[in-house]
Formats: sequence, C-alpha cells, structure tokens
Amino acid sequence: MNNNNSSLSHRKEEPENGILYIVGTPIGNLNDISQRALNILQNVSLVACEDTRQTKKIMNKFNISNKLISFNKHNSLIKTPKIVKDLKEGKSIALVSDAGMPGICDPGEDIARSLKYEGIDMICVPGACAAITALVSSGLPSSSFIFEGFLPKKQSDRNKTLHEISKNKKTTIIYESPHRLKKLLQELSVFCGGDREIMVARELTKRFEEHIGHKIDDAIDFFKDKEITGEITVILKGIDKKMSIFNESDLRKDLKELMNAGLSLSAASKYLAKKNGLKKGFIYNLIKRQI
Ligand code: SAM
Repeated sequence: MNNNNSSLSHRKEEPENGILYIVGTPIGNLNDISQRALNILQNVSLVACEDTRQTKKIMNKFNISNKLISFNKHNSLIKTPKIVKDLKEGKSIALVSDAGMPGICDPGEDIARSLKYEGIDMICVPGACAAITALVSSGLPSSSFIFEGFLPKKQSDRNKTLHEISKNKKTTIIYESPHRLKKLLQELSVFCGGDREIMVARELTKRFEEHIGHKIDDAIDFFKDKEITGEITVILKGIDKKMSIFNESDLRKDLKELMNAGLSLSAASKYLAKKNGLKKGFIYNLIKRQI
C-alpha cells in the first residue's frame, strides 16, 4: 500500500474502489479458497483471470457471479492499459490465475510492476502456492530457501542452472511438467549425486497427492516404469559439507580442464581421485556419463 500507516483492521470494507486485488486461489482442492477471497471475487467490479473456464469452476462451486475478463500471457500487453484505466476511474478489480498465487510463475508479475509504476494500490489476498505447500510438507530445511520455478528448456542454459542448483546450500524448489520429470531427476542425479535428499510432490491438495523421496535415485527408481501425470513440484535439499567434495559436475569440469591442459584421461583421473579421496575408476567413468 502507498499509505504506510494503514493497517487491515482500520481499512474500509472490502473491496475498495481503485484497488487491484491479487487473489490467491486453490492449487487443487477448491475448499482451500478463503472467505476473504470469495468476498472479493463476488464484490469487485470485475475479475481478470488467466482462463475464464477455470475461474468459472470456482465461481460456480461457491455460487458467485461476476464479470470475468481474460488476462493472460498472450493478451497482457493489450489488457494492462485498460485495467489501469478502469482502476484510475475508480473500479475495483480482482486478478486471479488458473491456480495458486498470481505472479508465481503465472501472469501477475508484469501487471504488478506496471501498477506500481502508475502509483495504483494493490492488495494481495493470500492463498495456496504449490512451492510453499510442497516445501513445508517435505521435511527439508524450510526457514530459508531458493525458488527456481521452471528450469530453462535450452540444454546449455539448463546445465548452467543445474550446476548452480547443485551448489546451493539452501533447499531449492523447482516446478516441472510431468513429461520432463524423469529427465530432470536424471540431471539432478548427475549434477548433485543420486544420494542427495529430495521430495517430489505430485498432485498437492488433490485426491491422489503423493510425496516421493527419499534420495534422488529412489525417486528415479519409483518413476522408472510409470507414466507420470499430474502436477509436480520438486524440493531438493541443499548441499552439505560432506557432499561438496563429491560434486560430479565440478569433478567433470576439473577433469576436462586437466585434459585440455594435456593430461591423459588416466593421469587426470588419478590426480582428481587422490585430491578428492575417491576411486580413480569413478572419475574415469564420469567422462562417459554425459547427459
Ligand atoms: N501460481 C502457481 C502457484 O502459486 O503455485 C504456480 C503456477 S505454475 C504455471 C504451475 C506449476 O506449479 C505446475 O507445473 C507445478 O509445477 C506446480 N503446481 C501447481 N499445482 C500443483 C499441485 N497441485 N501439486 C504439485 N505442483 C503443483
């Protein structure tokens, strides 16, 4: 809020004119919607939603009817000026995405930046977020963490990100599509080692919710012969001191550097094995285990 002295208990009845309400909606279980979110969706001048069919499901379940307009990554550039104009004219607007918190890997981030620039007030009505739901149910350190969202698709960018993730000391949260999960798990095994702790959360808050772990290689085994469907969030434990001497990606990089400097594969492997307290054969085989 622009008025730093305001507090919710002193605010006028919601929704107020001229404000964009960024409303969190459920990530599966529709009963996770809050009373406050329902009140806003019912009483704003209009609801801007990613896909009107998805939002109608919530509206119908709770017998709410209101004007819906579509606002998504394909039309946000065209629609943003109209939303700004409506807010400046005193309308109240709710922004929702298909699921969870708008702005978290969903439309919302850009319009929030535009409105901030225009000096228009925004209020977030908090709701479910897959990242946080998965994190707190993982049992992994959660008071400080890194949210990666979706990894890049281009392999060179992806490898760079995976290399950074492998060195994070904090728990990392990753969103992944079901058809790329097996590839991601293989990549994490190579970059972080198959012993790293992980939790794959599938279908959070839904009927067939699953939490799969305990190590990366366990998750690979679990999904090996399965066709993966549903929505997936991956929680990866950060590196600890013991692991830092055993990072396959760093070892492979060192190996290449030594070979570029003229050492044979055998000599480079022997050197790195001694330096890292590992078997020479393990290092030797790394060069053949490229993704
Ligand atoms: N804005 C949403 C939020 O607050 O979580 C995230 C939207 S992003 C486009 C969709 C991704 O979130 C999915 O591909 C999946 O990685 C994750 N996700 C959403 N719902 C989920 C669920 N019920 N269980 C597990 N992951 C979920």
